[in-house]
Amino acid sequence: MNVDPLVESLRRAVRGAVRTDPAELARVDRDGSHVRGCAVASFAPADPDDVSAAVRWARRRSVPLVARGAGSSLDGESVPIAGGVVVDLSGWTTVREVRTDERLASVGPGLVNRDLQEALRPHGLFFPPNPGSWTVATIGGNVGTNASGPRSYRYGPTRAWVRSVDLVLGTGERVRWGSRAAKRSVGPDLLSAFVGSEGTLGIATEVTVRLAPLPAVRLGLVVPLPERTPLSTVATELARAPGTGLSAIEYLDARCAAELSGPSGFERAGEGPLLLLEIEAESAADSSRREERVRAALARVGGPAAPRVFRDADELWTLRGRASTALDAKLGERIREDIAVPLGAIDRMRAEVERIADREAAPLYLFAHLGEGSLHPNFAVDPASPRGGRVRGAVLRAALALGGTISSEHGVGALKIPYLEQEIGRAGLEVLRSLKRACDPDGVLNPGKLYPPEPLRPARAPSPSPSGSGAARARSGSPSGGVREPRAAGRAPPRRRGARS
Ligand SMILES: Cc1cc2nc3c(=O)[nH]c(=O)nc-3n(C[C@H](O)[C@H](O)[C@H](O)COP(=O)(O)OP(=O)(O)OC[C@H]3O[C@@H](n4cnc5c(N)ncnc54)[C@H](O)[C@@H]3O)c2cc1C
Repeated sequence: MNVDPLVESLRRAVRGAVRTDPAELARVDRDGSHVRGCAVASFAPADPDDVSAAVRWARRRSVPLVARGAGSSLDGESVPIAGGVVVDLSGWTTVREVRTDERLASVGPGLVNRDLQEALRPHGLFFPPNPGSWTVATIGGNVGTNASGPRSYRYGPTRAWVRSVDLVLGTGERVRWGSRAAKRSVGPDLLSAFVGSEGTLGIATEVTVRLAPLPAVRLGLVVPLPERTPLSTVATELARAPGTGLSAIEYLDARCAAELSGPSGFERAGEGPLLLLEIEAESAADSSRREERVRAALARVGGPAAPRVFRDADELWTLRGRASTALDAKLGERIREDIAVPLGAIDRMRAEVERIADREAAPLYLFAHLGEGSLHPNFAVDPASPRGGRVRGAVLRAALALGGTISSEHGVGALKIPYLEQEIGRAGLEVLRSLKRACDPDGVLNPGKLYPPEPLRPARAPSPSPSGSGAARARSGSPSGGVREPRAAGRAPPRRRGARS
C-alpha cells in the first residue's frame, strides 16, 4: 500500500475522519463555479480542538486548509486551488440552543440554512438571510461569504444577523469574536471582519445568530413590467413609499422571466420582464392596506398591469427557485456576475451590461435584487475562456466606475482578486493584509482567495515556519507566489506541497 506520508501524518495529528478516495476528492475539488482544485484529502474534524490540531499540523507542514460547508460558492471560494486539505464542516449540524427570550440560536457551522429555518418555525422565529441556495448552503458558508437573499432588502445580509462566532484562527488558537449582548461598541469590530472573510482568517466552529419574529402574513406579488421601464425609478419609488412592508424587490429580465412560465411555473401576462415583491403584514387587513400602497407606488412609475398575488410568498419563491434550476440546466457553466451599484445608477449599469453582451456576442440573462441595486448579469459564455475573462473584467470595472462594488453577496473568491484593489485602494488592501498576517501568519487558510499577491520584498525577514515556504504563501495568499488567474478545470496546477501529483 502506497500511503502518502503527508496524509499519514495528518491522520496521526487529528481524531476526525481523513478521506482520500477519488469520489470524495472530486466532490471537494469544486464549488458552483468552473474553478477546480487539487486537494490531497478531506478532513471531518471531531470537535473544535480537532480543528486546532489540524491548523497546527498545517502550519508545521505548510499545507493549505480550506474550510467547506456545502461548497455552493460561485467564485471558487471553497475550492482548494492551492491543494492541501479541505476541512469539511458539513457534519456539524447541531442546533445547540434556541433562546426564544433573547431571540438567539447557537448552531454548528454545517447546519443547512433551511434546516435552521425549520427548527425555528415552531418558535415563531426565523433567520432572515435567505440566499437562493438556502436548501443546501450552510450557516458557516453564509458567514464565510456574508450571504444574503431577496429578504435582505428589509433585513440586511448575514453580517447583520450574527451575534458571535467561535472560531479557530490560523494560529491554531480558539477565540470567540462578538458577544451575546444586543448592543456593543467595542473598537473596530473583529466579528464584522470575520463575516465575509471566506475562510481566510479562521474556521468557525459555532455561530450564534440573531432571530426575527415570523410575520403573520407574507404576500408574494408578480408584476409584469413594460420592457424599458426605468429600474432606478422603480427601486427608488418603492423604497420611498411609506408603510408598504416590502421585504423583497426582485427583478427578472424577459429571458429569466420566461423560465417562470411553463410546466414548473405559471401562466404570466405578456412576454416582458417581471418584478417579484414580498409584502410582510400583521394581519389580512394590514396586508390589504400595504398591497394598496404598493400598487399606488407602482402606478407612479408607469402603471404596470395588475399584479398576480400569491397569498403565501413561499409559493412564489419556490417557483422562482425552480426557474433558477431550469436556467442553470439550460445555461450550464457561464459568467454569473454579482455586482451592486447605487439605486440611481441601476439603469446605467443595465445599459453597460447590455453593451458588453452585444460587443462580446454573449447572450445576457439579467436578474436583480432591485431594492438593493444588486445585479446578477449572467452571460452565456465559457467562464474560463478569454472572452469570459473580458466580460467579467468589463462588468466589474463598470460597476466600480458607477460607484458600486465587485461583489454584492457572493464574495471575491478566486475570480475577482485582480479587481479588489480597485475597490478598496492600496491602503485598504494593506490593512486587510495586516489582518490576514495577524490571524494566519503562515498563510495556510484558503490561500489564493480574496487577497491579491503581494509584490515580492526580498528584504523582509524569513518566516519562522519550518518549511520556509509558508512565509511567501502568507504574503502572497498563494503557495505558488500568487494565483493571478484561477485555474480552470483541466489545466494543471503549479506543483506544491499538499497538492496531488
Ligand atoms: C443556485 C445557487 C444560488 C445561490 N444564491 C445565492 C444568493 O441568493 N445569495 C448569496 O449570497 N449567495 C448565493 N449563492 C452562493 C452560495 O450558495 C452562498 O455563498 C452560500 O453562503 C455558500 O454556503 P456554502 O455552505 O455552500 O459555503 P461554501 O461554498 O462551502 O463556502 C463558502 C466560503 O465560506 C468559507 N467557509 C465555509 N464554512 C466555513 C466555516 N465554518 N468557517 C469559516 N469559513 C467557512 C469557505 O472557505 C468559502 O470561502 C448561490 C449559489 C448557488 C449554487
